[in-house]
Amino acid sequence: MRIDRVETFLVPPRWLFCRVGTDDGVVGWGEPVVEGRAEVVRAAVDVLAEHLIGQDPLRIQDHWQVLSKGGFYRGGPVLSSAVAGLDQALWDIAGKTYGAPVHALLGGPVRDRVRVYAWVGGDEPAVLAEHIAAQIEAGFTAVKMNAAGATSPLATPAETTAVVDRVAVAREAIGPDRDVAVDFHGRFTPASARRVLAELAPLHPLFAEEPLLPDQSHLLPALVAASPVPIATGERLYSRADFLPALTAGVAVAQPDLSHAGGITEVQRIAALAETYGALLAPHCPLGPIALAACLQIAWVTPNFLIQEQSRGIHYNKRGDLLSYVLDTEPFRFTDGHAHRTALPGLGVEVDEAAVRAADRSGHAWRNPVWRHPDGSFAEW
Ligand SMILES: [Mg+2]
Repeated sequence: MRIDRVETFLVPPRWLFCRVGTDDGVVGWGEPVVEGRAEVVRAAVDVLAEHLIGQDPLRIQDHWQVLSKGGFYRGGPVLSSAVAGLDQALWDIAGKTYGAPVHALLGGPVRDRVRVYAWVGGDEPAVLAEHIAAQIEAGFTAVKMNAAGATSPLATPAETTAVVDRVAVAREAIGPDRDVAVDFHGRFTPASARRVLAELAPLHPLFAEEPLLPDQSHLLPALVAASPVPIATGERLYSRADFLPALTAGVAVAQPDLSHAGGITEVQRIAALAETYGALLAPHCPLGPIALAACLQIAWVTPNFLIQEQSRGIHYNKRGDLLSYVLDTEPFRFTDGHAHRTALPGLGVEVDEAAVRAADRSGHAWRNPVWRHPDGSFAEW
């Protein structure tokens, strides 16, 4: 069996899919994307595909080496995401070739269901409480919310209080038996993050995500040591080497993105590395069904797995949602706040190829907003 074709599809709301075809007719799907830079990753996939055409798709470990390192320059979001999507597609081909789910090829399951969480929004307390009530009604036992929008470099008392009050509303709405996680999104300076974390502690968040920007990883040890709230990070880290300083700093939760951090091959290694630090895995995934399917394959085989993000109904999902491009929605039917393991071969996602090809014809040009502080200076989004 030889790889004979690699194609990419730019599909709404903001995703990029890749299709790796073989001369045996076996097809693998992947999701190589950086949100807001999908066209750039598409170009990177086209270049990396030169290494795959004519090759045996089952030599995944070797392909990962060549794709990641064969161009001399390596790492970073664009290249690592291109590798990630191709890696997912190769694992999909391997599973379909052997007639087994990817998790069986990775050593078999350690669990039968995995807890997933839902996003909640709303600036007004009543709206936030309404969103949480809807997710509880849908069966979820955990939600995640943003801590704040653009925030002053040193948050005012009113800004700090607003963050704490919103999380208090969320805690009140969700009760003591379920969880609420808080995403800082790198919007706080280290000093503000320290202040807010201390005030959030009595509300017992599941974790605080990205309280620091990835460029400030050298400050993580002090922040972790000072924070009573478990710290999570990793959606903007792309390899074991990127994760090592965060894990050494003592973060509680590692959040590699299966579509950014080198795919299934590298994230399984990141998970094993995290285990040696007592850290738990909660892969980032505000993305599409192929990325989520890859996350779930990792969830089934990872002992130190905590919880999975998923994007159903997330505010980004305009003109397309998690189920828009799949023929079988069963793998993404969450009951009691959990995804359930299936024995479907490969990644376990049946892609609606006709829908993907049709969507690619209009494509998308999704970009995140660029925020400004009131004085006109750049603000982190
Ligand atoms: Mg995040």
